[in-house]
Amino acid sequence: MEGIFDVSWVPDLLRSEEERLLAETVRRFAIERLLPNYLRWRIERFPRSELEELAALGVLGLAVPEEYGGVSATRRALGVVAEEIGRGDLNVTYFLQLGAIAAGLIGASGDDGLKQYWLPRVATGEAIVAFALTEPGVGSDAAQLSTKAVRDGSDWLITGEKASITCAGQADACVVFARSGGDGPTGISMFLVPLDDPKVERVVYDSAGAKLSERGSLHFDAVRVPADHQLGEQGQGFVSAMQAFDFNRAVIALACIGAAQQSLDETMEHVKNREAFGKPLARHEGVAFEIAEHLSLIHAARLVAYQTLDLADAGLGHTTEAAMCKWLGPKQSTEAIRACIVLHGWAGWGNDLPLSQRMNDVVGLEIGDGTPHIMKAVVAREAMGRAYAAYR
Ligand SMILES: Cc1cc2nc3c(=O)[nH]c(=O)nc-3n(C[C@H](O)[C@H](O)[C@H](O)COP(=O)(O)OP(=O)(O)OC[C@H]3O[C@@H](n4cnc5c(N)ncnc54)[C@H](O)[C@@H]3O)c2cc1C
Repeated sequence: MEGIFDVSWVPDLLRSEEERLLAETVRRFAIERLLPNYLRWRIERFPRSELEELAALGVLGLAVPEEYGGVSATRRALGVVAEEIGRGDLNVTYFLQLGAIAAGLIGASGDDGLKQYWLPRVATGEAIVAFALTEPGVGSDAAQLSTKAVRDGSDWLITGEKASITCAGQADACVVFARSGGDGPTGISMFLVPLDDPKVERVVYDSAGAKLSERGSLHFDAVRVPADHQLGEQGQGFVSAMQAFDFNRAVIALACIGAAQQSLDETMEHVKNREAFGKPLARHEGVAFEIAEHLSLIHAARLVAYQTLDLADAGLGHTTEAAMCKWLGPKQSTEAIRACIVLHGWAGWGNDLPLSQRMNDVVGLEIGDGTPHIMKAVVAREAMGRAYAAYR
């Protein structure tokens, strides 16, 4: 069992000693605390108290500045943590992602009062701040959203429906994108909306995976928001959202890669121990080579993800790399986990093992935060120029 905590077998990631230690600590937590409960949260509601342990590890406040009770960690550290948590329960990384996105958006665009109120609460897990861009009628083409923000004295009134929102069921506030001006992306502004208002209605979906994240809809019926809850300049909402997404695409890729790597590690143990046709499965070349191929492809995706985060840490553009790893990481992870299911035989497809659930959860992340088609359109646009873009 000790071997599972050894993070050094993975081809060298040129990690600093500090990152190696971080990876080891989080892996221990993921394997000892998260993995045994992974399948439990398909049936039971994820208790809010579980967030306290994540907060104590520093996971929720990684991107929150130290002055607001966070860790001010690098983006790369965020990736290390997402990958290791992904081994235990990749769905738990939704809290890490939302914490980092909230820290980025409120930290960069919120006024002092909002920062002082919300950021320490995000870091301790006392507050979950969701992110609401998608609507029933628009997802990939989110710039056409129709939720409205209308000025009423010094306040804003928000009306509309947001769909497929992670943590809709349990969030305390939400960054809402609403049309406050004209058509298209420049008519969209961003608002921090507390969700304890009776004019907010929540519906939690019955999803195929990630039940603990209580994905669902938020309906806003003329919800009153004070002017100081607007984040950033009028008409800057969409641009901020797109920038906020970039680093998170690498975090998502690494969460999926962690789940796939864990599945491959479990499968390697299985094929070393189970025999067929007179020898361990691992000694059948068809089995060994399939595992080797997935290890290689997963590692290639991992490297693009860490490079994306390194670019982000260096303050350099990383839109192309983020889009590359967002389609590549979840896709290779889905394929690796599917292979692991088959290599376990009938048992792999059962719900006593975590493999099938992991595959469902990873497929959700193939869609969430930008589908493979849209990611490839971004890569092609950046490579060939906007004149040839499938969308601007
Ligand atoms: C697990 C999960 C979590 C999510 N969390 C959030 C959240 O917290 N907040 C939030 O705002 N949203 C969230 N979403 C929504 C997510 O961002 C959208 O589902 C995604 O952007 C795609 O939009 P759509 O589902 O409406 O699909 P559509 O836009 O309707 O697309 C349907 C299909 O058509 C393809 N397609 C669309 N346009 C093109 C094109 N130009 N070229 C080629 N193919 C195209 C897409 O790739 C897709 O396969 C989440 C979704 C999931 C699954």
